[in-house]
Amino acid sequence: MLADRMKQMKPSGIRRIFELMASMDDPINLSIGQAHFDPPEALIEAACQAIRDGHNRYTVTQGLPELNARILDRVESRYSHRPEASLVTSGVSGGLVLGFLALLDPGDEILLPDPGFTMYAQLAELFGAVVKFYDLYPNWQMDPDEIASLMGPRCKVILLNSPSNPTGGVLGAESIAKVASIAAEHGAVIISDEIYDEFVYSDDYASAIGLHDRVLQLSGFSKTYGVPGWRLGYATGPTELLDAMKTIQQFSFVCAPAPFQVAVAEVAFDLDMSGYIEEYRGKRDRLVSDLHKAYRLLPPQGSFYAFPSLPGEVPEAEFMQAALDARLLVVPGSAFSRKDSHFRLSFAVSDEKLGEGIRGLNDLVGRLT
Ligand code: PMP
Repeated sequence: MLADRMKQMKPSGIRRIFELMASMDDPINLSIGQAHFDPPEALIEAACQAIRDGHNRYTVTQGLPELNARILDRVESRYSHRPEASLVTSGVSGGLVLGFLALLDPGDEILLPDPGFTMYAQLAELFGAVVKFYDLYPNWQMDPDEIASLMGPRCKVILLNSPSNPTGGVLGAESIAKVASIAAEHGAVIISDEIYDEFVYSDDYASAIGLHDRVLQLSGFSKTYGVPGWRLGYATGPTELLDAMKTIQQFSFVCAPAPFQVAVAEVAFDLDMSGYIEEYRGKRDRLVSDLHKAYRLLPPQGSFYAFPSLPGEVPEAEFMQAALDARLLVVPGSAFSRKDSHFRLSFAVSDEKLGEGIRGLNDLVGRLT
């Protein structure tokens, strides 16, 4: 019954954890990929008001003009470069689907980070592209020489994700600039997934925006404002590419959810989220200082994930089972990587749960090593 393309699709390793969690009594869940806070009250109010005011019909495919204007203003004020065009998408996930479809023919190559967000390789392969991985181990940085060596005549896209899911790494400005010039030399597009761009704990966060005329920036509202269920993101970049993505959106998603576009355009850009980000910096600091040193952990510079090594020489399956027995939910590194030497935990949880999680993980060290 099913198309051949379904043969290579595996259910997400993270979804399996969700299913396990549903069967557990009060788990210590450090597997979640979303902020733990509720959206600011003003944003909730604006969304309710937008529904009452009748913003329940389709919007134009590219998204409300006032929202696009605010997106471009924000990008320009942050990076001193105004992209040619923007498009409101159904989450960054929607932006990835549209971007990949607009850029990749079957057989074209895309370079992806290893470890990296699970959706990239699955979508690229679904669309018939050939995936090549560049390595982020051991310091969560890319090596521009490796990227140059992977570039072939069919390489159309280099995907960057900073801050990173799952590593918490932030890519260095110098390596981004080098990779931008490699992409320019080969006529390749950089897709820069910047969904965690507000969750940055280091001073040297950099974006590829403005470094190359073929940069597709994807970002959104899910993580920053605690609204992943609103399915709202955006893409910025060259007009030719954004027009192609808009055409595909016309025949697929149609538009991003209308009332939430209105609410975000009216309220979100004026909200000060710095208190929330500082809270996460504190959770990051606590994790880094209190997690047992048998877990080798590079302090996350951004996002709300940490990607420690497994303790000692413990095989991944044994570690995961021991964690589950202790009601601890984390995500095995092999869900994100060709390697199975690390695991992802999210510190986007209450202080109480984070404390329980750290104690649980530290207890495992004694039992497993
Ligand atoms: N990119 C990365 C790196 C992510 O971690 C996520 C969400 N887990 C997404 C994209 C998709 O986010 P959304 O579709 O909610 O905007």
